[in-house]
Amino acid sequence: MTIILKINERYICKKKLKVAADAIKKGQLVVFPTETVYGLGASAYNPKACKKIFEVKGRPADNPLIVHVANIKQAKKIAEFNPIARKLAKLWPAPLTLVLRKKDKKIPKIVTAGLDTIAIRIPRHRVALELIKASRPIAAPSANISGTPSGTTLRHIIDDFFGKVSVIIDSGIARYGLESTIVDLSRGKAILLRPGSLPAEKISKIVELEIPPEAKALKKAKKAIAPGMKYRHYSPSVPVIVVENEKEKNIKRIAEEYKQSKLRVALIASKNYAKLRLFKKFKTERHFAKHLFAWLRFFDKKSDVIIVEAVKEHGLGLAIMNRLRKAATKII
Ligand code: AMP
Ligand code: MG
Repeated sequence: MTIILKINERYICKKKLKVAADAIKKGQLVVFPTETVYGLGASAYNPKACKKIFEVKGRPADNPLIVHVANIKQAKKIAEFNPIARKLAKLWPAPLTLVLRKKDKKIPKIVTAGLDTIAIRIPRHRVALELIKASRPIAAPSANISGTPSGTTLRHIIDDFFGKVSVIIDSGIARYGLESTIVDLSRGKAILLRPGSLPAEKISKIVELEIPPEAKALKKAKKAIAPGMKYRHYSPSVPVIVVENEKEKNIKRIAEEYKQSKLRVALIASKNYAKLRLFKKFKTERHFAKHLFAWLRFFDKKSDVIIVEAVKEHGLGLAIMNRLRKAATKII
């Protein structure tokens, strides 16, 4: 049985929060809000509970989880903080995940997929923080069936997990809509593993950040820079066509071509190029990032093909393009 608890971030209901925290303590699964996307959480110290995360998501065992903590003290108990980590940790709570050397032997192997490093973050969401405080660190990947767009609204969570988890906390639509930025600090320098809701420029202001081509999900980047990155990601079941070149002309032509072959065409773009019924317009990168997964999920139910206009790779654009390239069946 799944309980749905509506918890407002501004007025947190302690009674409801306790129900969720007790479920975590008992080794059950709880879907909870963060500022990035919803997380599918279990006690980070309970291997059986963490195993359930992999089962209900259909997540490969070699794809490690992010451990969410409520404060620096918890973080320092779990991982070794080098000088760069101490600098970047000052950004917390934030949509920033740091990969550090693992210290705490009590964290089970399943959480880190057997690695000697661990991904850790303090989320900037009061419900998440209160839940962690009440139940200790929580291991949580994004709440979605493996390979599909992450869940950012209650609807998505119900579609994927109703009946499969003990508790779903609903705190409304996720503020950022894309996952955290992941930076590897375990090798003595800062390497961007996954662009995310914290723009890389904010990190570069503090430390020198290496941005390998893999972080942009460019075609030439064949090898995975981090476990899990090699897998199909963020993909709806219908084809996704990302238009990177000659935007306007191409988008119009492609949309017309599909329309003529009687396919239901959906378009995500900055302008309505093709007079389509299934159309979402993004105004800014922030707006695009916040709704991208929701739009992909929505059009997955309604269309036969989704065409998406590319954006420039700065600020949130880096994360948007990473997700789009990974979701794409074709890049033009
Ligand atoms: P998700 O929470 O679903 O966005 O997935 C978390 C991602 O964090 C995984 O796909 C990994 O790529 C990354 N990750 C977690 N732990 C580590 C680690 N120890 N080293 C490198 N990457 C990691
Ligand atoms: Mg994920």
